[in-house]
Amino acid sequence: MRKLFRRGHLQTNTAAMSSKRIVIITSGGDAPGMNAFIRAACRAALHEGWDVYGGRRGYEGLINDDFVPLDRAATANRIARGGTFLGTARSMEFFKPEGRAKAAANLHKRGIDALIACGGDGTFRGAELLQAEHGIQVVGAPGTIDNDLVGCDYTIGYDTAVNTAAEAIDRIRDTAESHGRTFFVEVMGRHAGSIAMDVGVACGAEFIAVPETVTNLAEVCAHMHRKGPQKRFIGVIGEGDEEGDATMIAAKMKETYGIEVKVTILGHIQRGGSPTVRDRILASRLGVAAVEAVRNGASNIMVGEVGSSIVHTPLAETFGTHKPIRPGILQLAEILT
Ligand code: ATP
Repeated sequence: MRKLFRRGHLQTNTAAMSSKRIVIITSGGDAPGMNAFIRAACRAALHEGWDVYGGRRGYEGLINDDFVPLDRAATANRIARGGTFLGTARSMEFFKPEGRAKAAANLHKRGIDALIACGGDGTFRGAELLQAEHGIQVVGAPGTIDNDLVGCDYTIGYDTAVNTAAEAIDRIRDTAESHGRTFFVEVMGRHAGSIAMDVGVACGAEFIAVPETVTNLAEVCAHMHRKGPQKRFIGVIGEGDEEGDATMIAAKMKETYGIEVKVTILGHIQRGGSPTVRDRILASRLGVAAVEAVRNGASNIMVGEVGSSIVHTPLAETFGTHKPIRPGILQLAEILT
C-alpha cells in the first residue's frame, strides 16, 4: 500500500502544480476525528507540494500569530487520538472586526493563501466573515459531535460520540434492570436531537426527548404504568428539550406524578476518546476533499459527505438552516419505544 502510494507520488509532476501555503485550524467544540482530519488535510496538501501550517487554538492562533509548520512527522501517530493536537478555542476576539483584521494581517504577512477550518456553524460564520472582509480563501469541514449541519450526512465526531453514549447507557441499563429503576440519561446535542434519537433507538430506550418534537410527560407516565411497577425504564434526554434538562424533567415527574427518577448526565465524556473507524475514514476523506477544494479555487464552502459523494455547501447555508432529524429514525422511535 505504502509502495503504491510512493510510486503514485513520484509520477506526480509537481512542477506543473501551483505552489500554495495553507493553514489548518480546528475551532469551536472539539470532536473525536479532528486529528485524523488535520493529518489527512496536511498530507493531501504535502502531496500537492504545498507548505502547510497549523494554527493553534482555532481563531486565537490566527489572531496571536501562533502557527506551527506541519509535515508528515508532525501528523504521525495522531489518527487514533481523540481531541485535537492543534487545540481549539471559542475566540471572543474573532467576533470583532478588529480581531478578524489581526488574523487576516497575520495570514497575509506569512503569505498564506487559504484557510481550512474544521468546526461547527460558529466556525463557519467566522470563516465567512474572514473571506468577505479580507478576501481570504476559506474552506470548511464539519467537525462537531452534534451532527447539526446541513450539507453532510454526518459530522466528524458524531459516530464516536453516539457510540460512547450508547456504551454508557448500556451500563446504566444493567443496574436499572437489576433494581427495577427509572433512569433519565442526558446526552449532548445543544439544539439538535440527533445524538439523543440515535442513541435512544440504539439502546432500546422507553422514552426519548428531543427539541425537535413535543415531549408529553403525561404520556411518558402512562407508558411507565403500562410497563408496570418495579420495571426498568430508560429515558434519553437531549439537551434543549422544551420541558428542560434531565434534572428538570425528573423533578417534574416527581412533583406531578410522584415518580422517582435517577438522573445521569453524560456530559463531556461524549467528546473524548479514540475516534471510531467510521469517524477516521470520514475525517480522512474530508481532509483530502478540503485540499482538493482549495486546489480547485473553491471558497466560502463546506465540504461534506452526502451518500457516497463529496458535496460543497455555501457556508451561509450551513449556519442559516438547522439539519432536521432524519424522518426514518423518528418513525423507528415511534414504533420501538
Ligand atoms: P460546536 O458546534 O462544536 O460548538 P462551533 O464552531 O459552532 O462548534 P462556536 O464556539 O459557536 O463553535 O464557534 C467557534 C468560533 O467561531 C467562536 O469562538 C468565534 O471565534 C467564531 N465565531 C462564531 N460565531 C461568529 C460570528 N458570528 N462572527 C465571528 N466569529 C464567529
